[in-house]
Amino acid sequence: DFGTGVALYLDDITVSFDGFRALNGLSLAVDVGELRCIIGPNGAGKTTMMDVITGKTRPDAGTASFGQNIDLLRLRESEIAAVGIGRKFQKPTVYEQLTVFENLELALAGDRRVRAALFARLSDAQQARIGEVLQLIHLLPQAARPAGLLSHGQKQWLEIGMLLMQDPKLLLLDEPVAGMTDEETERTAELFLSLEGRHSLVVVEHDMKFVDQLTQGRKKVTVLHEGSVLAEGLLSEVQANERVVEVYLGR
Ligand code: ADP
Repeated sequence: DFGTGVALYLDDITVSFDGFRALNGLSLAVDVGELRCIIGPNGAGKTTMMDVITGKTRPDAGTASFGQNIDLLRLRESEIAAVGIGRKFQKPTVYEQLTVFENLELALAGDRRVRAALFARLSDAQQARIGEVLQLIHLLPQAARPAGLLSHGQKQWLEIGMLLMQDPKLLLLDEPVAGMTDEETERTAELFLSLEGRHSLVVVEHDMKFVDQLTQGRKKVTVLHEGSVLAEGLLSEVQANERVVEVYLGR
């Protein structure tokens, strides 16, 4: 059951690369429907954490679970996607020659063959879901345009839409507004706020203005440093935390 409680639970995770500890006793709990921002200086371990959650990197120690009883460390990368964890990398990877609608159609088919997916008839429910996602990602007017003609920000939204076609329980987003205009950043915050509740979201982000838009002065953020949690609390609280200020200023 995934109704309430903890969606993602990492406990005392350690990852070493040639003796260097990229993660060093990292623990994190994200609730079902929660939107959690993760901040921290370069090298803090944010990417490694995402890699552990998605099965790309195996920790040396610790536990990682999803929902009530799924042990992530026993699953392969493909199985982790199948249990409902979607990850968006920084660089968008959409099919530039295909239309926005066709990109979503392909994503609906998951890993089925491209050609088969494009020639399959969509059910009414599938058409409706694509329409719903097009609206969420602000691309309804662009549905018939080749994805290659979209702006950078629109491509990012399309890729998020592609993830949404699989209706993931947990979305992992790595610097989703990098390279976006202020207006695109604001619309992305609106999008994420509309996903919160139905999905859990973990957002790694450097843009503090965006973090502020997402947390609205009332959501917890997590600060990573040297492979573990340095501080957790409201953005205003962690920004006033002396240790956090020190690691950001490199003192
Ligand atoms: P962040 O995403 O917060 O910038 P990373 O998770 O990318 O941090 O990296 C954490 C630390 O681990 C860094 O010091 C980085 O150089 C090191 N690291 C990451 N991946 C590897 C790897 N495959 N081999 C060796 N060191 C790595």
